[in-house]
Order: sequence, then structure tokens, then C-alpha cells
Amino acid sequence: MCDRLFQDISSGRTVINFESPIWRPFTQMKTAVAPPKVVRGEGIWLELEDGRRIMDCISSWWVTLHGHAHPALAEALYRQAQQLEQVIFAGFTHAPAEQLAEKLLTHVPAALRRVFFSDNGSTAVEVGLKMAYQYWLNQGEPGRSRFIGFEGGYHGDTIGAMSIGQSSTWWQPFQPLLFETDVVPFPATFTGDNQVEQKEAESLTKIEVLLNQTSYAGIVIEPLVQGAGGMRMCRPQFLQNLEQLARRSGVLLIYDEVMTGFGRTGELFACLKSATVPDILCLSKGLSGGCLPLAVTLATEAIYQAFYSDDATKAFYHGHSYTGNPLACATALASLELLEQNPQMFQGMEQLHRHYLEQWLPDHPRLARVRTCGTIAALDLVTDGDEGYFSAIAPILKARFLAAGLLIRPLGNTLYLMPPYCITSDELEFVYQTIRQVIDSL
Ligand SMILES: *Cc1c(COP(=O)(O)O)cnc(C)c1O
Repeated sequence: MCDRLFQDISSGRTVINFESPIWRPFTQMKTAVAPPKVVRGEGIWLELEDGRRIMDCISSWWVTLHGHAHPALAEALYRQAQQLEQVIFAGFTHAPAEQLAEKLLTHVPAALRRVFFSDNGSTAVEVGLKMAYQYWLNQGEPGRSRFIGFEGGYHGDTIGAMSIGQSSTWWQPFQPLLFETDVVPFPATFTGDNQVEQKEAESLTKIEVLLNQTSYAGIVIEPLVQGAGGMRMCRPQFLQNLEQLARRSGVLLIYDEVMTGFGRTGELFACLKSATVPDILCLSKGLSGGCLPLAVTLATEAIYQAFYSDDATKAFYHGHSYTGNPLACATALASLELLEQNPQMFQGMEQLHRHYLEQWLPDHPRLARVRTCGTIAALDLVTDGDEGYFSAIAPILKARFLAAGLLIRPLGNTLYLMPPYCITSDELEFVYQTIRQVIDSL
């Protein structure tokens, strides 16, 4: 079936060979081919209906940390499901949420003291934006309603998250619905980049000018790695300088670590790796180890105190039906324990990426801007100008990788790997060998 899928795409024919009521995410249904049906997961493997096994090289949209169907997570979920599956989180509490909040705080910078639960990455960011705005409002500064975001930033698909990630490719039709943001350049860098300092200086200068002109509510950034924008990476030094600018002007620094959190960058969080401290930290994706939807927005004590009042209107009126769901919290606790027990799982992967990149893809004429950060490796394919998310190369590559047994989903002409942490050195070597074969066959 996967072979046929590849032929269909390569022949340029439009194929609708499946009947399903499901309207799929990020998919033009008219040109979509039948998606493979997955019946089982184990470690880095996904087993298809026809018995074939596919290696999950992107952690199923960046969520799976320890591999699929991990027994420890399954066990935690099963136990919790027999105990308490869900309870209203307004006016009630439960052990999994209490324990998870406590445990999370032991792993983030000490300035982050308060944990607000929600259930997906976009919402973690929405909460961060609303929190930042109301923080100023509660202190008598209602004028601070504007945010600064970065070119290529992606923060989710809800209206607020789209507004702060306005430069993303997908938002054009929704432009009239979005609130205005100021967008500054992201100093994306790569191995051998000799202009990085200049790019950083330009970005910082632009930010400084904006901060001097306007009283902003916050600056929102994906620290170290912009995910959906094309796995664009910046240096820790840039974040350190950004933090200094933010501190000087008093604006809140909001880190969207929905993707970079929980070991992706080689440290548990990008803020730790860059030795910087945000005022607000948004987490989701890997929080539950990739098992269940769950998110948190962490805040400093100063932010929390701005809401802490005898005045009821100063409370943070935000919440979701499944806020702090016990099943998701119990799974997240089990996942954090695995990360604590085996930090080398995510700490060692960057070295492996570098090793295989150097071994298999040296000076290849079709490859540019090779970059690595922790468990993430990315490079751009040289495509004669056909770049960006809608590059024609993306679906062809995706189909060829699938035919070769790999789940890899290029972002336009950007090829990246973000495997579950349980991938072995041999498996990673096989992935790089296969990538090389596919690229050489183009
Ligand atoms: C995926 C992602 C989001 C959105 O998370 P969802 O759970 O898909 O809503 C937000 N920010 C970043 C950096 C992400 O990678």
C-alpha cells in the first residue's frame, strides 16, 4: 500500500481512494491519499494494518518521549483510571495534579513558582498571553496590551496563538481575525554560520527600538528551536541578551517550550540549557510523555501576586473542562520519573546526530544549513528556489521515506529528525543511511 501511495504521488495523479467521514488536520482532503492505518505502537515502531513496521522519526508530531506504548506509562494510566479518571478542578484537587506541580517546580528555574493547568500547547500559550495582559491590567497598566513575536514563530492554531505567530505560512486567511503583534527577526543559525553575531545584533537592535517606543505586555519566543517554522535554531547567547533587554524594560518574557520542553534540546528545558529565566513558561507535548493531552503554564511569584487579591475581579478567569485531568497528570508523573532516571537518553543524542551527519552527509551538494540541538537534527534541501512550507519536494520525500519504512515529515524543504529518546545508535544509523539513499535518488 505504501508503494502504491508513492507511485500515486510521483505520477502526479490526484487520488482519493478512501472513504472516511474524518476531516484531517493540516490536510487538503482533495489531494490527500489514504493514510496508513496504525494498529500498534512499540518503542520507536508503528505497526501498520498490513503488518509493515514504520520507524517513528518525529515522535508522532513531537510528543512521544520514551517510545510508543511504554509499559510504565500504561501502568500509571491503568492504575489512575481505576482510582479517579476525572474531577472538576475548580474547587477540588487531587494527588496526581498536586504531585505533578510539585515535581515540575523542582526541574525549572526557581523563579517559576506557580502552575496553571490546561490541555494542549495552543492553550498553554493562550493562557500565557492572557496572564501577561491581565498582570499589567491588575497593576493599573491596561495600556500594555501588545506583544512582540518572532519571524517564523509558531505557537498553535487558536486565535491568540495565531496572532503571536502571525508570520507563519498558514495564517493568511485568518488575518482579519488576529490581534496585531510586532514581529522581529529570529537569528536562525547553523553549523559553520559566520553571520550569526550580525543577525543577533540586528534582531536585538530592532527589539530595543520597539521596547523604547511602546509599553509591551510581553515578548513571546520558542527558545533555542523554532519548531513548525522550520526547525530554526538560535544560540543561547541570543536568549541571554534578550533576557537582559526584557529585564531592563520590565516587559514579561514568555517562553513557549511546548516543543522544546522535556529533554528535546538535550537539557530538560531550553531555559536551563540557555541559563535564562522566563516570567512565563508554556509546556505541553512531551509533558505526558506523549500519552495524553495535557499542558501547563508556569508563572513567577510576582505574576501570581498581581492576581492574588481581595478583589474578585482580579482573579484569572480561565479554565477548561479537563483542566488537570488525573489520568494525564498520573501519566506525566510517570514520564517525568523516567526522564529523571535516564537523563542520558536525551543528553547523548546530539552527539549521535552529529556523528552520523558528519559520516553520511558531508559536503553533499543538495544539503545546506545543517543544524543540531539535543535530540533534534535538521537540514535544508537545496531546491532551486522552491523553498518554504509548500515546496513540492515535501510530499515526495514524505512518501519515499514512508516507502522506505520511516515516518519523516519534512517542513517544506527542511528535513528534520526528532526521534523518541529510546532510539538506539544502530537504528539512528539506519535512519541516516536511508535518508542518504532517498536524497541521492532524487
Ligand atoms: C505544537 C506547538 C504548539 C501547539 O500545541 P498544540 O498542542 O498542537 O495545540 C505551540 N507551540 C509550539 C512551539 C509547538 O510546537
